[in-house]
Amino acid sequence: MKFWLSRPDLAGHPVQAAGSGDVTAWFLGTSSVLLSDGDTAVLTDGFVTRPGLARVAFGRIAPDPDVVRRAVERLGTPPIAAVVCVHSHYDHALDAPVWASLTGADLVGSESTANIGRGLGVPEPSLRVAGEGDVLTYGGFELAFVESEHSPGDRYPGTVDAALVPPRRSREWRTGTVYAVFVRHRGGTVLVHASAGFRRGALHGLRADVVYLGVGTLGKQPSRYVEEYWDEVVRATGARRVVPVHWDDFFVSLDRPLRPLPRFADDLDVTMRRLSALAARDGVEVLLPVAWQPCDPFGERPRTS
Ligand SMILES: [Zn+2]
Repeated sequence: MKFWLSRPDLAGHPVQAAGSGDVTAWFLGTSSVLLSDGDTAVLTDGFVTRPGLARVAFGRIAPDPDVVRRAVERLGTPPIAAVVCVHSHYDHALDAPVWASLTGADLVGSESTANIGRGLGVPEPSLRVAGEGDVLTYGGFELAFVESEHSPGDRYPGTVDAALVPPRRSREWRTGTVYAVFVRHRGGTVLVHASAGFRRGALHGLRADVVYLGVGTLGKQPSRYVEEYWDEVVRATGARRVVPVHWDDFFVSLDRPLRPLPRFADDLDVTMRRLSALAARDGVEVLLPVAWQPCDPFGERPRTS
C-alpha cells in the first residue's frame, strides 16, 4: 500500500488498563468520554453514529437514535446527568441531543450546541450554555469551562444561529465555542481538551491529574507547535497522565476496532513520537484509550498492547 494511504500501527503503545475506581471512565472514540462515580455520570460529546465518509462529504447526516440507544445499553445505562459538547462540529455534537433526550441529561455547551439541541427537541430547561469560567455541578462532579481554540485549519468555522434540524450537510454543524472542560471529582480531576488548539496562558494555574488530549491533525503540525500545545495544556495543568484522543478514523462504526486515520489525513506515529519525547522530559505517562473498556482514569498501572 502506498505510504500516504497506510495507517499508523497502534501496537507497542501503552494503553489504559481495564479497571474501575472512585471514577470510572469509558472511551467511545474521538473525544467522547463517559465518567461515572456510580451515582452520577457525565459524558463529553457521545459521538457514536459516525456516518461514512461519502455521506459526510456529499450527503446529509443525522444522528442514528438506535446506535445511541445501543451505546447506552452497552454501557449499562449509566446515570448521565450532563452531556457536554466540547465544540459543535458534527463529530462532537451530532448525537449529544439524542443522549440528552434518552437519559434526561442536560445538554451543555455553547449557544450553537443549544441550537443543535433545539433542532432535536431537547427541552429548554435541559439546555445549559456555558460561559468562560462557569462551573456547573452534577452530583459529585464539578464541570469547569475555559474557552479554548480549535486546532489549526477549522473546516467549519462560525456558529449555529438557529435550531438545526437534521438531516443536514455536515458543514452546518459549525464550531461555536471551543472549551477545555475540567471534570473535577473528589477522586481527581480530568481535563478533556479535545481539540489541538490553545490560548496562551488560559490554563495556567488550573490543575488536572489526567488530560484527555485531543491530537487530531497534530501529526501535520510543526514540532514547535506540538511542544507549545503540550506546554500550554499538559505542563500548565501539572497533569501526570495524558490520554491522546481524537486520533481514530471516525468514518467507521464503533462496533469495529478503532484504527488511526490514514497518513494523508494525519500521522499518529509522528504525534506519538513527539508526545513521548515531551512526556519523558516532564515525567508524564502517555496511555492510549481503549474503546468501550471501563478504566480508572487515575489509577491502574498501564499494560503494553
Ligand atoms: Zn472540530
